[in-house]
Amino acid sequence: MNTANSQELFQRAKELIPGGVNSPARSWGSVGGNPLFISRAAGSRIWDADGNEFIDYVCSWGPMILGHAHPDVVAAVTRAAEKGTSYGAPTESEVRLAELVIDSVPSIEVVRFVNSGTEATMSALRLARAFTGRSKIVKFDGGYHGHGDALLVKAGSGLASTGIPTSAGIHPGLAQDTIVLPYNDSEALEKAFAAHAGEIAAVIVEPIAGNMGVVLPEPGYLGALRQVTAQDGALLIFDEVISGFRVGLDGAQGIYGVTPDLTCLGKIVGGGLPVGAYGGRRDIMQTVAPLGPMYQAGTLSGNPLAMAAGVATLERLREPGVYDELERLGALLQAGLRRVFNDAEVPVTINRVGSLLTAFFTGSPVKDMADASAGDHDAFGRWFHGLLANGIYIAPSDYEAWFISTAHTESDIQATIDGAAEALKSV
Ligand SMILES: *Cc1c(COP(=O)(O)O)cnc(C)c1O
Repeated sequence: MNTANSQELFQRAKELIPGGVNSPARSWGSVGGNPLFISRAAGSRIWDADGNEFIDYVCSWGPMILGHAHPDVVAAVTRAAEKGTSYGAPTESEVRLAELVIDSVPSIEVVRFVNSGTEATMSALRLARAFTGRSKIVKFDGGYHGHGDALLVKAGSGLASTGIPTSAGIHPGLAQDTIVLPYNDSEALEKAFAAHAGEIAAVIVEPIAGNMGVVLPEPGYLGALRQVTAQDGALLIFDEVISGFRVGLDGAQGIYGVTPDLTCLGKIVGGGLPVGAYGGRRDIMQTVAPLGPMYQAGTLSGNPLAMAAGVATLERLREPGVYDELERLGALLQAGLRRVFNDAEVPVTINRVGSLLTAFFTGSPVKDMADASAGDHDAFGRWFHGLLANGIYIAPSDYEAWFISTAHTESDIQATIDGAAEALKSV
């Protein structure tokens, strides 16, 4: 594969941008090699700067559920742009997107749009602290909620210990107020609430984890989160930035029948433009300015292009059969990948919900970060490069999800399974 243009661009980029990228995972640090610079995309396909074509399972890390350059979305954004790209004043399109979100997501009675998933989670935590008057928060090992200071924290030694920053430059006081627990462990949760009764403002969780690879909640686990938080008076925040509109219109909360107090959205809700959102119970949301004392704002929040892309995307997703088809393609891919791993005698665990899946290079079940870490990451790296050579583009880490779009076809899936088998030969 000729990647001369990507290599040249990466050299230039490294002189100008830290590490040559505007978001670290794009540098392929964990699999090695020169990241591909993308020049265009359409449907299920992307093309790099050298004209190589790939079936894309990154889908911009989740947002592109309709595939790239969907005609409805392109038309909506174009029409909006012709009327001006930003006013800093309210518009009908944000009312329309709010209606679609509130109609879809069970927990959301009132919603505020922001510019990224990071902003959504930061704002939701500030709101939880404002509403409860408490300072501690609970997150889970392997849960990613964007790059807000209080959330870039990993578990210290021992259960229910205070967190250790995973980034330099984080005020120690912020990490101290973040308690990090293992995911899918109800006992650890109960212990933490016993140790910090009345001090915890909120538990924030990806109800279907997507950032340690895809990890499903064990039966009853989300219900336990709901019960323990309600008993203590802490808020339950579902970070559905990945799962929202991905696993169904009503998200993980719809699938598992557990209603959080607040929900964070991002990725799909912006249809490929920069949007995040947080919303929930009306009484809690009334704490947000200008109604209440919790300040949160944004020059470009509710941007008309972004709202137009979100509306066009959600309207398409509401048509009948969309999620059934994504489920069908996801099941085909999972079954096919299992088959080729078995044939190659390479141990694998494939976790999947609908069009969201991860193949872990381990024969053991993966139900938390420790299990995900136990996979053979070097083997994954070799497979990743083999997939590329076979025209398949997935995220450059086995702590990430594959995303299938409505533009993927059964023949894309079959080509992917065949390519996966070829790529396993070099693992
Ligand atoms: C991507 C992601 C975020 C952060 O969203 P950005 O738009 O990248 O800031 C937050 N939470 C989860 C679960 C995510 O996957």
